[in-house]
Amino acid sequence: MRAIKRRGAVERIRDFIDYRVPPHIPVKRVKSRLTAPVASFTFDDFPASAAHNGAVLLEEYGAVGTFYVAGGLCGGADGDTSYFDKADLVDLVRRGHEIGDHTFAHIHVPRHDRAALDEDRTRNARFVSDVAGDVIATSFAYPFGHASITAKRYYSRHFACCRGTAPGINSGSLDLAQLKAVSLESSVFDPKALAHILEKAKAENGWLIFYTHDVSGNPTPFGTEAGVLAGAVRACRDADIEILPVRNALARACFA
Ligand SMILES: [Zn+2]
Repeated sequence: MRAIKRRGAVERIRDFIDYRVPPHIPVKRVKSRLTAPVASFTFDDFPASAAHNGAVLLEEYGAVGTFYVAGGLCGGADGDTSYFDKADLVDLVRRGHEIGDHTFAHIHVPRHDRAALDEDRTRNARFVSDVAGDVIATSFAYPFGHASITAKRYYSRHFACCRGTAPGINSGSLDLAQLKAVSLESSVFDPKALAHILEKAKAENGWLIFYTHDVSGNPTPFGTEAGVLAGAVRACRDADIEILPVRNALARACFA
């Protein structure tokens, strides 16, 4: 019993070091050259409803999103949530949406060694190119938002930028190894806070990266009600905050 408790304490310390500390330790710093705020809408995993409802909704506003694909989830389901299939991936690319990397097997990256990360990363890249053709992910999103310092160093060598889930607006000195994000998940997001977030992004010429999973009339705690997503997209437009996929926003932030 005591051994179990000790192991629990060690685990908790390791979790703290791996998950709480990295957002505060920049690994790939770049000074933002944004002269106006931008927003990106991103979808992790991604459920079929994100490809269907989320993508269409962005397109209605003349925008496209970034879909972080974990190839191992293709064609699968978790409870009532169906994940994307190959046709969804092909269709998103055809319609101009960005495909990012989210590991193949949706792993806790801090818990894997470099050889395992190499294998998983190349497997996901091969999956994407086999399905969608000449598509190379330029950005990465950490599954579960978890990133150790070692993982940040690893993924920032392989991708132009990486997104975590630590909350905030990216402005001033950006950490491209773990960009901050704003959750639109139904269990977290408060639509009443949106106006304040947008105001802050405007004041800082910041890069807002929203993230969610499924998009429907009845979302999971990790997803977003379609009307709430529509409201966020509309609010960005009303606030004159340009909506860009991550790759384009990154280029804007780096090269102005
Ligand atoms: Zn995920």
